[in-house]
Amino acid sequence: MGASTPEPLHVAIIGAGITGVNLALGLLARGVSFTLYERAPCFGEIGAGIGFSPNAERAMGALSPDVLAAFKRVANPNGEDYFQWVDGYGSGKLFFKLHVGKDGFQGGRRSDILDAWAKLVPPDTVQFGKEIDTITQPPSTHKLRLHFKDGSTADADAVIGCDGIRSRVRHLLLPPSSPAIQPGYTRKFCFRALAPLSAAIAAIGEHASTTRFMYIGPGAHVITYPVANNTLLNILAVLSEPDSGSESGSGSGSDWPHASHTHTAPGHKRQAAAAFRGWHETVRGIVDLFPDEMEKWAIFDMAAHPAPAYTKGRVCVAGDAAHATGPHLGAGGGMGIEDALALAALMEEVKKRVEQKGGEEKKGELVERALEVYEEVRYTRTQEVVKATREACDLFHWRDERGRDPERFGREITEKFHRIWNYDVDEMVEEALELLDQRAA
Ligand SMILES: Cc1cc2nc3c(=O)[nH]c(=O)nc-3n(C[C@H](O)[C@H](O)[C@H](O)COP(=O)(O)OP(=O)(O)OC[C@H]3O[C@@H](n4cnc5c(N)ncnc54)[C@H](O)[C@@H]3O)c2cc1C
Repeated sequence: MGASTPEPLHVAIIGAGITGVNLALGLLARGVSFTLYERAPCFGEIGAGIGFSPNAERAMGALSPDVLAAFKRVANPNGEDYFQWVDGYGSGKLFFKLHVGKDGFQGGRRSDILDAWAKLVPPDTVQFGKEIDTITQPPSTHKLRLHFKDGSTADADAVIGCDGIRSRVRHLLLPPSSPAIQPGYTRKFCFRALAPLSAAIAAIGEHASTTRFMYIGPGAHVITYPVANNTLLNILAVLSEPDSGSESGSGSGSDWPHASHTHTAPGHKRQAAAAFRGWHETVRGIVDLFPDEMEKWAIFDMAAHPAPAYTKGRVCVAGDAAHATGPHLGAGGGMGIEDALALAALMEEVKKRVEQKGGEEKKGELVERALEVYEEVRYTRTQEVVKATREACDLFHWRDERGRDPERFGREITEKFHRIWNYDVDEMVEEALELLDQRAA
């Protein structure tokens, strides 16, 4: 091979969820060649809702204005620009409200949002039915070789694992004995559903159905917001298992069936209704909107055993693959989008340098330095969010006594959300490029 004219930088993205698709669109906007490999036969997300916080929207805009515009086209306006907490157990009255910024923290149906982004991905850059198995470095080439479960292979200069909470790429990065290979069951589980907005309005009134609310109380919380052009109410009810403290490792001692690998189990409305018996009538009215038969979802995260690193050589992980977190601050998806921005900016810089200076070996070194920098700028930020998410759930479930006092709750939750929302994504990119400049000099 030697230091002759290099082929252009080519990035392999594993996994076409929120993180992978955002990364693909960020690379597309920067003219960096990539292939997106997804194990499923097509783009796909479940029907439940998701909301994106202001930092996530800024990261979308910085990835590409098209990414933000696509999200905004399918995002549902909140009736009011506030996140509002209600004492769901006692008074049923407003407990605390926090301004989310103009048109901020809007939600949508996951499938609508992913579809809107997926339409922007050129079809010839995606390969479906490709489940990554392993990655090797053949002696005959400077490239990495990806091996898929179907027996096929592909080569790339960098591999970015956006393959979710049970990431195969994370598995390949870490020593086989690392406890971070598997996420841990948090001893929290949830029921989620989309109810017709008309039924919600009949049950709990228009005000409660058309903006973002959270009902808090002992051992549980319920979050609601409208999606799908104000036709559906997204409902997420999160419950702590009895005596669950703030807790545990990789599923040990869990009451969840097969907690080390199963995310869902059959559930029934009567189980949710039993859990919220004695709560305020508004909350019982919301729970009554659930269908009789539904799934319950175990909530896993990586708080007990964080990945010690996000990068090894020219391979890294991003999004849930790197730092899976609970849903309680509505921030996990946004962290993946911020990761995608950092990676897209760094890969663009590598591409430029390769074009100017050339050399296949140099390209490999540059990719390694860029991925080290990615880890450096993203590790602390993302780990803080994983930790803060657990703490927030303790406040919502009144396991942290401050959760019962509107003033102390307000102070604490404002601090947590503002740390997430006020993050400067432009500064992150600037810092990443400066660090790469120093390391690659
Ligand atoms: C109940 C709940 C509510 C939430 N609400 C919010 C919210 O309001 N706001 C927010 O920001 N976040 C929220 N989150 C978090 C958010 O859903 C996740 O952080 C986000 O979906 C992670 O996206 P990802 O692309 O990193 O991973 P995933 O969505 O898991 O995507 C991974 C992709 O990789 C593919 N894949 C997996 N393995 C392989 C393989 N070996 N080879 C090839 N492809 C593979 C999968 O098929 C999938 O398409 C919530 C989470 C939960 C559980």
